[in-house]
Amino acid sequence: MSSQVTILGSNSAVSVHGRFPSGQVVQIEEHQILIDCGEGTQFRMNDYGIKKSKINTILITHLHGDHVFGLPGLLTSYQLAGRKAPLTILGPKPIQKFLDINLGGTGHFIDYPLEIIELDFKDIKAQKLTEVIELKNACIEAFELVHRIDCIGYRVREKTKPYKIRQEFLDKYNPTVREIKRVKKGLDYTLESGEVISNANCALPPEAPRSYAYCSDTLFHPPLMDILRGTTTIYHEATYLDELQAKARDRFHSTASEAGAIAKGAKAEQLILGHFSSRYKDLQPFNSEAEAVFKNVKIAVEGKIFEI
Ligand SMILES: [Zn+2]
Repeated sequence: MSSQVTILGSNSAVSVHGRFPSGQVVQIEEHQILIDCGEGTQFRMNDYGIKKSKINTILITHLHGDHVFGLPGLLTSYQLAGRKAPLTILGPKPIQKFLDINLGGTGHFIDYPLEIIELDFKDIKAQKLTEVIELKNACIEAFELVHRIDCIGYRVREKTKPYKIRQEFLDKYNPTVREIKRVKKGLDYTLESGEVISNANCALPPEAPRSYAYCSDTLFHPPLMDILRGTTTIYHEATYLDELQAKARDRFHSTASEAGAIAKGAKAEQLILGHFSSRYKDLQPFNSEAEAVFKNVKIAVEGKIFEI
């Protein structure tokens, strides 16, 4: 199954021009992961045919309302739908308190298994990726962003896949299970005579694992180039165009060309821009400014699905 992201909301603070606040669903291996949950996220999932019940992990970057006001409603909908499947939510402190107030304070209680993992900045290595959740054939890593309040970026990535064994190799050498396992790891095959058969003659290399990094909200933060090096697709906020770079600084946000610089520095294959200020109706200039720096830029249009 290919890995992909569906954009549910790509605007900043308020909902205008038909755009909603932040939310997106990443499909990686067999996992469906929701990243951020601004107001309206669950209705967008209905609109775009996302099966809400399949989401098993929710990643929240920070507690500004445009990233989290949809969460109490979604959790309550799960309760009303009789959800039984476990759900894990990751987010910065004090996400537990936020949910306690919003659910407990309104008389809503959750019966399904809900695990809330509060991430403290102390738990995240400075200028490095920190693995926070291990999933089957995939993992989730966290990294620091720079915003007015604690804000966490996430990278979701496929794990390295095994080498694919060539049929001719099996037919010719009749290897044992243990020997096949070694070849699947990329090792050479040694005959009893001591002759070494190179791995390339026994197997085909696996496809490179795909990865997706989500950077919103953040000041332009050059260390991200190193932290995210080799990530295949980067989503980076571009709240403003370059003409408002000073405003972006002031408000701990980035511009389109700054997002382009991060993608270029990280040697990514693709950049998706989002978190647009409400002042912009036409988003084409974001594309142009980022493309002056980095070649493969996409605009996070709601409802669009991007391969990652
Ligand atoms: Zn925001």
